[in-house]
Amino acid sequence: MERLQKAIAQAGVASRRRAEQYITNGEVKVNGKVVKELGTKVSGNDVVEVKGVQIQKEEPVYYLFYKPRGVITSVSDDKGRKTVLDYFKDVEYRIYPVGRLDYDTSGILLLTNDGDLDNKLTHPKYEVDKTYVAKVKGTVTVPELKKLRDGIVIDGKKTAKASADLVKPGDDGKSSIVSLTIHEGRNHQVKNMFAAVGHPVEKLSRTDYGFLSLNGLNAGEYRRLKPHEVEQLK
Ligand code: URA
Repeated sequence: MERLQKAIAQAGVASRRRAEQYITNGEVKVNGKVVKELGTKVSGNDVVEVKGVQIQKEEPVYYLFYKPRGVITSVSDDKGRKTVLDYFKDVEYRIYPVGRLDYDTSGILLLTNDGDLDNKLTHPKYEVDKTYVAKVKGTVTVPELKKLRDGIVIDGKKTAKASADLVKPGDDGKSSIVSLTIHEGRNHQVKNMFAAVGHPVEKLSRTDYGFLSLNGLNAGEYRRLKPHEVEQLK
């Protein structure tokens, strides 16, 4: 027996938090009856429906994807743009992206059907390090690197301590290549941090996610995570 919200999350339908909302909103039925109590226990013999659709337990799967630029991090797009799931047409599992990368950002992205892991990795307190390499306008100075490291107030809240290093000046003499490692995941955080020190981002790529990197993958390619990698993430 396990808690209803856990069963829903494990089925890959939603994160545990979202599953709890579905339950309290009366959108979940167990054996045909609406259940609104979060503590309800279910077993494999119970029929669970979320918004009228019966959930099926899938084995949890984990993919590491090299997202190309010009692809939306979403399972569908009403403007008809290419989504990350377009690269997973042969994958039968109901996977979805863990966190987001902007449309024009390339780089490392995890996809899974494991709502619990998604929940954990996207929670600010989990603090997984994410490294970005940015080509930014202008020449980034040492005091500006220090500001990026120490934290910058964005929308009234200071960013947490980060690592920031100048990789090299841009080839054109008008830009810089900077590596920035953050563990938060605020909206457009990297672009906003560079904009705040006067260096708008021209090109952005995420190269590392915790201990995971893009080694061996080209843009548009993916691989399954190895069992020991999954364990390490958990
Ligand atoms: N920060 C950004 O500004 N964009 C991304 O895609 C990721 C982090």
